[in-house]
Amino acid sequence: MSEDCLFCKIIDKEIPADIVYEDDQMIAFKDINPKSPVHLLFIPKKHIANLNDVSDEDASLIGRILVKIKDLAGESDVAEKGYRVVINCNQDAGQEVFHIHVHLLGGRKFEWPPG
Ligand code: 5GP
Ligand code: ZN
Repeated sequence: MSEDCLFCKIIDKEIPADIVYEDDQMIAFKDINPKSPVHLLFIPKKHIANLNDVSDEDASLIGRILVKIKDLAGESDVAEKGYRVVINCNQDAGQEVFHIHVHLLGGRKFEWPPG
C-alpha cells in the first residue's frame, strides 16, 4: 500500500471500482473512461510504480496477470476477433497513474502504429 496512490485505494476498497476479477495477488476492474467497448485494467496488489520498477522476483506475478488477461478476453468475447494489451510507462507513453497497470482493450479495430 502506497499512500496517495489511487489504485492502492481501489485495492483497499477506499475508492469504488467495477471489479471484474480479484485474487490474493491482483485485481481487474473496468476503466472509468473506457477507450473501447471492452477496457479493463489489471493491477498487482503489490505497489509497483511502473514497468521500470519491475524486478526478477515479480516475473511470475506479471506472468499471472497476462494469463488472467487472456481469460478475461475470452469471457469478454473479444478473444477471437482480437484485442490489445498495453502498459504505458512514464510521460512519453502517457502514463497517468503510477501504480503499474495493464490495459485490456477490445471490441473495436485499433490502429497500428498507435498514435
Ligand atoms: P494510464 O494512462 O496511466 O496508462 O492509464 C490510467 C487509466 O486509469 C486511464 O485509462 C483512466 O481512464 C483510468 N482511471 C483513472 N482514474 C480511475 C479511477 O478512479 N477508476 C477507474 N476505474 N479508472 C481510472
Ligand atoms: Zn499503488
